[in-house]
Amino acid sequence: MTVDRARELDEADPLAPLRERFLLPPGVVYLDGNSLGPPTVDAAERLAAVVTEQWGRDLVRSWNVHRWVDLPHRVGDRIAPLIGAPAGSVVVGDSTTVNLYKALGGAVDLWRSEGHRRTAVILTDTANFPTDLYVMGAVARRWGAEVRTVEPTGLEEALEAGDVACLALTQVDYRTGRLHDLPRLTAAAHQVGAITVWDLSHSAGVMPVDVTSADVDLAVGCGYKYLNGGPGAPAYLYVAPRLLDRFSNPIAGWFGHAAPFDFSAEFRPAPGIARGRVGTPHVLSMLALDAALDVFRDVDLDLVRAKSHSLTTLFIELVDGLDVELVTPRDPDLRGSQVSLRHPNGYAVVQALAARGVIGDFRAPDVARFGFAPLYIRHVDVVDAARTLAEVLESEAWRDPELARRDPVT
Ligand SMILES: *Cc1c(COP(=O)(O)O)cnc(C)c1O
Repeated sequence: MTVDRARELDEADPLAPLRERFLLPPGVVYLDGNSLGPPTVDAAERLAAVVTEQWGRDLVRSWNVHRWVDLPHRVGDRIAPLIGAPAGSVVVGDSTTVNLYKALGGAVDLWRSEGHRRTAVILTDTANFPTDLYVMGAVARRWGAEVRTVEPTGLEEALEAGDVACLALTQVDYRTGRLHDLPRLTAAAHQVGAITVWDLSHSAGVMPVDVTSADVDLAVGCGYKYLNGGPGAPAYLYVAPRLLDRFSNPIAGWFGHAAPFDFSAEFRPAPGIARGRVGTPHVLSMLALDAALDVFRDVDLDLVRAKSHSLTTLFIELVDGLDVELVTPRDPDLRGSQVSLRHPNGYAVVQALAARGVIGDFRAPDVARFGFAPLYIRHVDVVDAARTLAEVLESEAWRDPELARRDPVT
């Protein structure tokens, strides 16, 4: 019955043909694209060709001949439409963590350049991703600022309380999947003169994001989750065009220089988004990301969001009544593209599922997390995953002591 309905939904799915463009092992239901997206066929072929035909044949000339030098901008311009940014406002390179440092340090400097003299407060929430919190702490120490951390529901009140220089948030909570109202919070921050830094790691690629209409100041995001750029793929930095002249990248490096090959001893920031660059681009990783972005060409993100709703809603419906607690909001408009379930032995449950071909992941202390990437996950996969979960819980397969042994990476 449920399988029939899932098949019908898949047959009517306009995104269904995209699945064939991914390399997915047979018999596996991959619900961890929010941790590491799978390779695309395009990316695998492209990487092999780049090694032999560019690096291997044209060697150092490739910087010019194959325009490796401006890859951070070319790939940035391909990510831009996924986040509603104009061409020339997104640059690719470094990790999300490093880009957070640039954005947060840059935000405090921008705020001070507006003449504020009081201590800069960086406001965030307790649910933010640990690396985001660590970088905020480091920036606060280095810049003489202060981090204020409140519950996700207390942000607007904290903004009204005053003093906030920078509102720094992740749009979709990596643990629970809760979606922040980015336009509303950005507007509330602007009301009190604060600069916004959004981390789009768990939202870009699975829902329409519009930094332009929301008037976001700065944003960062990850290349290896829903963008499928490969392990350690470079991240991206967005700077609103209206701020580009004033944005100062706290990591001054030669590729962010106005004329890197003048080898001048004095630092002069490049015009435009190029000032967000630091050092030599990670060419192979960036070309893999570039190729991976091919699958997004002509994809309507409203359709992606609609399918994400449909997949997550079906999964929630099927796991309701099982011996787990739903931590993700039930209202589809309030969540990203994942469903998180709490179970006291969540780690072993995730391991037992993996042993049965259903790959999710675990987030401490007790959350089993399932990401539904609409470009390659089908409704029949959702049914498979839910049935396997029911079997693991009913059989108590998770009690096997072998499954409780922790791997270093979860
Ligand atoms: C995945 C993720 C990161 C990852 O940072 P890296 O520097 O790429 O390791 C950062 N922030 C958030 C919110 C993430 O989800």
